[in-house]
Amino acid sequence: MEKNLKQLTNRIHYLPPDPETDRPILSAICGIHQTLIIDAGNSDKHAQLFLDALDQYQTTNYHSVVLTHWHWDHSFGTNKMNLLTIAHENTKRYLENIIDYDWSDEALDNRVEKGLEIEFCSEMIKKEFGVDRNITITLPNITFKEKMEIDLGGVRCVVQHVGGDHSDDSSIIFVEEEKVLFLGDCLYPSIYTQQPLYKIDHVRHLIESIEMFDADIYVLSHELPLTKEQFIGYINALKLICDLADKHQSNHLNLVNELSTQLNRPLSQLEEEIVYCFMNGLSVS
Ligand SMILES: [Zn+2]
Repeated sequence: MEKNLKQLTNRIHYLPPDPETDRPILSAICGIHQTLIIDAGNSDKHAQLFLDALDQYQTTNYHSVVLTHWHWDHSFGTNKMNLLTIAHENTKRYLENIIDYDWSDEALDNRVEKGLEIEFCSEMIKKEFGVDRNITITLPNITFKEKMEIDLGGVRCVVQHVGGDHSDDSSIIFVEEEKVLFLGDCLYPSIYTQQPLYKIDHVRHLIESIEMFDADIYVLSHELPLTKEQFIGYINALKLICDLADKHQSNHLNLVNELSTQLNRPLSQLEEEIVYCFMNGLSVS
């Protein structure tokens, strides 16, 4: 996977995601006066990799790092970033809950057994940090409830809480001048549930919030940036399946039949997965 910094627009650079240890995309928005970083990375190493890459562009005068949500892969690099840290108030609350956790193999396995941690995250943490595991969780310095605006000089960023099934503290960042929307993981299904799930009303509410912003580029944390066309395709599939799940409720067969009739083809793997998540959401409500 690509380990070099990429240029997204005139004023935005990013380090592509790395599925090897579930590293999310890290981005820097460079205003005339200051630079804003989006997400702190999954470890000291990840944060340092990004900061070193930014150094080559002589990026200095950092405003802060904004966390899209509390999950380890977005927040464990905060200590190494050593910057003012901004996050939704729930993000801080969730990080406070895990601040005293022990991250040894034994402790991780124990939490997985008790259902407090997910097998996947546990494996990825072990892989990212190796045996010499020094994890320091750092809390955000500034929190917000709904939204905040940051002016970097010639570039304004709107940070807005949107919630959603993936994590209810999820926030998105819209960069008006560049027409780029950073979505974090907010569109992905829940992970801290027995099965990954989508709830019909949560997805509708989330899409409404996202559609308030008119962007040309959409950045989801664990994939490469999407064009408007690609993003609309993705959102339309999600909306269509959401509507059909509402119509057919737990009748999986009827849902799949109507969906493939409307699309005039068999479902893609992604569509199958989305259907599965809505079925899971319906079974727990
Ligand atoms: Zn996440």
